[in-house]
Amino acid sequence: MSDPQLIRCPSCGATNRVPLEKIAQRLKPVCGRCKTPLSAETKPVTITDATFAAEVERSPVPVLLDMWAPWCGPCRMVAPVIEELAVEMAGRVRVAKLNVDENPATAARFHVQSIPTLLVLRGGREVDRIIGVQPKAAIVQRLERAAA
Ligand SMILES: [Zn+2]
Repeated sequence: MSDPQLIRCPSCGATNRVPLEKIAQRLKPVCGRCKTPLSAETKPVTITDATFAAEVERSPVPVLLDMWAPWCGPCRMVAPVIEELAVEMAGRVRVAKLNVDENPATAARFHVQSIPTLLVLRGGREVDRIIGVQPKAAIVQRLERAAA
């Protein structure tokens, strides 16, 4: 059994403990106090140059941003880990993906030289950077530090 995720209610601000299994099974958790549906994201969010400010800079939680491209083989190795993290870190870290070919402005802004590059951002500012294919445990460890 895994630890429940803490999800903040967008309506009343109450912190709810939601079992990870419930999120993984796509059951819609609701706030224990006011019954507002809790929108835990369990899929990576697609970010573009146009949505970066809204989705990343204004995110209330740290963002793990996977900088990738369709032609990049190592990116395909990282992709399943990113999908798993979106479920496992739901409510604590926003997991997102950005196609560097289609969104060169964001890639240039963060001087992304090679892919895959995983950026860890708080308020749109880079707090950590994981370059290349890394074991999932190593990524989780660094995310836990950023989300602490
Ligand atoms: Zn509530």
